[in-house]
Amino acid sequence: MDEGLKGLILTAPFMTATSRVFVPSVTEEDGGAIGLGVFSTEEIAWKVLRRFLRKSHLMSLTRSDLVVWDVDIVGEEGMTVLSSMHCRDCPVCKRRTFWMDLDSFSAMCTGQACEAWIEESTIDPGKIDLGWPPTRFLKQADSLEDALSDLKEIGTQLEAAGSTPNSAFTSIPEE
Ligand SMILES: [Zn+2]
Repeated sequence: MDEGLKGLILTAPFMTATSRVFVPSVTEEDGGAIGLGVFSTEEIAWKVLRRFLRKSHLMSLTRSDLVVWDVDIVGEEGMTVLSSMHCRDCPVCKRRTFWMDLDSFSAMCTGQACEAWIEESTIDPGKIDLGWPPTRFLKQADSLEDALSDLKEIGTQLEAAGSTPNSAFTSIPEE
């Protein structure tokens, strides 16, 4: 674990009463689940999950979940799913690194030097924003399907130009 994350956890408020814990996990293609830990705040749980997903091009993952558990409650009533994301092939870079949250109409490629994204517009409700950071591409679409095909179009252009995000943008530092 890197130092930044360690510091964040050490400075998290201590839990004084029994309360809630935040549990991120991912599922591998063969169905095996990997727990990423149990955390006292949602913020830390998200950071741990997001950091893990950045390496998802090295693994075969199908989904991620962030679940909150009320401590000392027996059974499923103690559990609330905060987020479930599914991993698909990225429409731009084609790697299996495109994390989609279908409830919130958001998606993001965690592949290195790609980071294609989709998000429901906060300004125009019902519209979908999309972008591809390496060329500062930004666009608005009417539906999730349109947004995906706009991103696919970028992928097709890249392919036609004989480049992939991997080879074309290796000079961009990782963080
Ligand atoms: Zn991508």
